[in-house]
Amino acid sequence: MGQNFKIGCTNCNYEENFSIGIGMLYRPDLLLNFKSEMNPLPSIIGSKKTLEEIRKLTEKKDVTIYGEYGFDVYRCPQCNHFYERFTIALKHTDGLFVAEYECPRCKMKLEPMLVKDKLEEEKHDISKYPCPICGKYSLEQRFDELVMWD
Ligand SMILES: [Zn+2]
Ligand SMILES: [Zn+2]
Repeated sequence: MGQNFKIGCTNCNYEENFSIGIGMLYRPDLLLNFKSEMNPLPSIIGSKKTLEEIRKLTEKKDVTIYGEYGFDVYRCPQCNHFYERFTIALKHTDGLFVAEYECPRCKMKLEPMLVKDKLEEEKHDISKYPCPICGKYSLEQRFDELVMWD
């Protein structure tokens, strides 16, 4: 299942669309199988470092996917840009690995906004984050309107 999450700014022209996908989009056994060319991770994990860490983990025994995986919206605490990234956590014998990403602009660690966990809620309080373009606290969640022509 995928769902759109659109962020817009009421002060400037900033608007961005994110696809949030959860769960059964990908088969869990394929995600952990790096011998298979069908493994979608190399194309959906936008970080070589993170991908390599996951690949190494899958060589260990008793590695399982922890919780839900899917696409979520991340934000950079430094430049305030939003990104769509694949969130996944792996449980293994020595602990828990959570996929992390760096901001491609300023290399800061991105923070997951956990949008996918709250999709049922009608609105997200994104007005507490400054706009990545104009810096004003004027962001809103936008919905695609069905335009009826008569
Ligand atoms: Zn940044
Ligand atoms: Zn703005």
